[in-house]
Amino acid sequence: MTLMKRNTKIVATFGPATAKPEMIRILLNAGVDVARLNFSHGTHRTHKILFTRLREAAANLCRPLTILQDLQGPKIRVGTLKNEPWSLKPGEVLEITSARNQNHPAHLPIPLENLPRLLTPHDHILLDDGNIELEVVSIRGESIQARVLLPGEVYSHKGVNLPGVSLPTGALTPKDLRDLKFGLELGVDAVAISFVRKAEDIEYIRELCQTLSPEHADIMLIAKLERPEALHNLEAIIQASDGVMVARGDLGIELSPQAVPIAQKQIIHTANLNLKIVITATQMLDSMTDSPRPKRAETSDVANAIFDGSDAVMLSAETASGKYPLEAVKMMHQIILQAEKHLDRWGHWKGIFPHTQSQDDIFYMSLAARELAHDRNVAAIAVFTMSGRTARYMSKIRPSVPILAFTPREKTYHRMNLFYGVIPHLVPEAQTIEEMLHVVENAMVTSAAIRTGQQIVLICGYPIQSSAPSNLALLHTIGGVR
Ligand code: PEP
Repeated sequence: MTLMKRNTKIVATFGPATAKPEMIRILLNAGVDVARLNFSHGTHRTHKILFTRLREAAANLCRPLTILQDLQGPKIRVGTLKNEPWSLKPGEVLEITSARNQNHPAHLPIPLENLPRLLTPHDHILLDDGNIELEVVSIRGESIQARVLLPGEVYSHKGVNLPGVSLPTGALTPKDLRDLKFGLELGVDAVAISFVRKAEDIEYIRELCQTLSPEHADIMLIAKLERPEALHNLEAIIQASDGVMVARGDLGIELSPQAVPIAQKQIIHTANLNLKIVITATQMLDSMTDSPRPKRAETSDVANAIFDGSDAVMLSAETASGKYPLEAVKMMHQIILQAEKHLDRWGHWKGIFPHTQSQDDIFYMSLAARELAHDRNVAAIAVFTMSGRTARYMSKIRPSVPILAFTPREKTYHRMNLFYGVIPHLVPEAQTIEEMLHVVENAMVTSAAIRTGQQIVLICGYPIQSSAPSNLALLHTIGGVR
């Protein structure tokens, strides 16, 4: 084992550009910690092939890998056009129908039930990630007249956003439900839920997972924050989730591009205070989809997401369909290394919680372990965990030393790879503290970074066999166990 020099985790989306086993191996070696399967694209067949190859590659490299299923959610899309692209001219007035297919050259199909009742005159309709903008002029029965404000070329199935319009959609579409069942059967480690509006959306899906697959009831649920309503319910959504994603693509359309930086800071800070994982996503190195070098503003964006306190940063099209997936992962790795050298000076999240924050025993044990680790200048904190919760808390508290997280549960082993600063180890279940110390020593022996005579802090639940929540911290000198 070599101790990781980087704490922030890299999430990479796998797709057509990165589906070959050799490419998967290369990207994992280059530093991908979390593989995202984007269910807005692909089929169950292609996702199953990717999933199997990802698990095989990680097993061959003897390393953990978090596999994150990203559900499409109630994304509205343009229907099927007869002739495409349809070039919309400024000022042109067209008719919008809620049909699936275009039935007239001047009709734009947007298949959403009750669309005329959801919209009112002056509402704006954004197509293709906001590149095209229409304004509703009038609504007559089932037809909607809209004027082109921002012209452009429309293609079938491009995304549609209706900013400010409250959509009567459920937490999951029928497609999401099919995909979720499929993901649970595959054994994904985490599920990202798109267009979350309120905590109940997450609670409903958690109950559903329990019913569909009791053994996966504790799967990590990541709420994608991309709707204004979600920001109004931020604290409650974060408390109901295991983590959140700052989904800046849709967020920037639903709010406005200039609102994204503030929303990002607010989301990251609230997630950190609530000890929840936070992934910053979308367009981080977007230009690397077509170019081997990033824009300077993009490198700055990645570093700033780390200074804001993200646990992980995400690549989307850059790795899923881009021309330079390896270069994008390597660049992400380099930016993180540079940024982390300056976290003390520029980082906003230092694991400091308000005194009023009431938490459980694990939180206070983690704080105590950090104090001990800093006061005694130890080499690492070793955590023994079943669910991964102590590793997550430890990570959020941001000690300045690596967190080695030991677990006998394979699920937990893979899952913890998403946590900032955590290095997961899969080990047999220990029955005594002496066994735990042996396990830690063995892990250390293979590491050049920790020498005999150095100290570590061990944190675990006591009595050992009871799987008690962490309640014991121990200062141990490496080489001291016989
Ligand atoms: C986003 O909108 O930023 C996002 C991550 O979601 P998706 O890529 O699924 O549209």
